[in-house]
Amino acid sequence: MKALIGGRTIGEWEREQPLLKDIEAYREVMWLNPNYGKAAADLVSGEDTAEAEARLCRFAPYLAHVFPETAPAGGIIESPIYPAPELKHLLERAFSLTIPGTLMMKADSELPISGSIKARGGIYEVLKTAEQFAIRAGLLTEHDAYTCLADASFHRFFSRYSMAVGSTGNLGLSVGIVGAALGFQTTVHMSADASPWKKALLRQKGAKVKEYEADYSVAVTEGRRQAEQNPNCHFIDDENSKDLFAGYATAGHRLKKQLADAGLSVDKAHPLFVYLPCGVGGGPAGVAFGLKQAFGESVHVFFVEPTHAPCFLLGLMTGLHNHVSVRDFGLDNRTAADGLAVARPSAFAGKAAGHLISGCMTIAEDRLFQFLKALKDTENHWVEPSAAAGIYGPLMLLSDRCGKAYLRQHHLEGTLASATHLFWATGGGMVPQKNREAEYALASRLHVSD
Ligand SMILES: *Cc1c(COP(=O)(O)O)cnc(C)c1O
Repeated sequence: MKALIGGRTIGEWEREQPLLKDIEAYREVMWLNPNYGKAAADLVSGEDTAEAEARLCRFAPYLAHVFPETAPAGGIIESPIYPAPELKHLLERAFSLTIPGTLMMKADSELPISGSIKARGGIYEVLKTAEQFAIRAGLLTEHDAYTCLADASFHRFFSRYSMAVGSTGNLGLSVGIVGAALGFQTTVHMSADASPWKKALLRQKGAKVKEYEADYSVAVTEGRRQAEQNPNCHFIDDENSKDLFAGYATAGHRLKKQLADAGLSVDKAHPLFVYLPCGVGGGPAGVAFGLKQAFGESVHVFFVEPTHAPCFLLGLMTGLHNHVSVRDFGLDNRTAADGLAVARPSAFAGKAAGHLISGCMTIAEDRLFQFLKALKDTENHWVEPSAAAGIYGPLMLLSDRCGKAYLRQHHLEGTLASATHLFWATGGGMVPQKNREAEYALASRLHVSD
């Protein structure tokens, strides 16, 4: 008997979803979400985001004190946006295509403390957990000046607790760095494909690193199991956490202010297209939730995944969420994009924000490097391979059959000249210079066709 996927054979799925043949052949695809804009379960609310924003403000003086690189922004962990006109020209030439409107980069590669989008969710959940432990013990109230958390007495208090997390790398860095700074004993469960330099850096910051030969979901499952046996251990669950999600969602209102300050309008006549690299889905789904709160129907959010690991696309397309793996469709989950090497999507992210996502697209391995190099050559920004995925967004939207259909269906064709395309450059700030140069050199050796 053939293995069934959610009660059906592969053949049955392929008949229902013709795009699957291309996905199985590792071809790049764009998929439009039929549930976009539909009602969904109320798993998160605007109040969760507001609570996260308020909590991050309470912690700002602590962060400014302990992580001086956050001091210029008053302890608020946020990244800049940059125009990318030279990159736009290069893409237009390379793909023989005009990209109307403005191309912008959201540089989460420059987020302070840990240099990736995980600094939004991961650090937030560590801070929330620390606050709850301290309040419960009667050592802190929400009205105190949180700089006291840097005192030796708090460090001793937190050292009685531990934090654990399963990670492909960047979440581990965010949790490990801030967890260790507060005094927690931190264990990061990592998949074999995580970069060696991330493991080394974590150990140097005082976190314990446990490695698993299997992939990321096994690292998460094993971490979760071990943490459950210890009542003083908080497990940061990348596949299910609402707190991570709320931390990511705070990006929405902040981006709104940044775009306004840059003189870029977002409304019906000035649509905003956002392209987010996606792994397990928690980060981009949280950001998408925040973006929808800030911009409503004027923002159109697309996720970008490697052709070797399109787990979120498959989760939404089949409606099976975490009950489907890219391996079920014969894909190998092998990608140089560390943060995106995820075979099975988060159930929480798909259910909480699946209906907010316009569609998903996939990108070939070589192109990640091509775009990493293009961004460096034109705009002089370094990102990691995962983070370059979003650069494909405008090209797919404007040239793919499904992209064009989307623009037509949503009456966007007439607004493109005043549109903003923003690719979320999700990480790369901590990558050692020699790794950056090796990735760049690899791109120089590739010949990628359009
Ligand atoms: C984790 C990560 C992502 C995707 O976030 P998920 O929550 O795993 O979907 C994208 N880019 C980088 C650099 C990451 O580290």
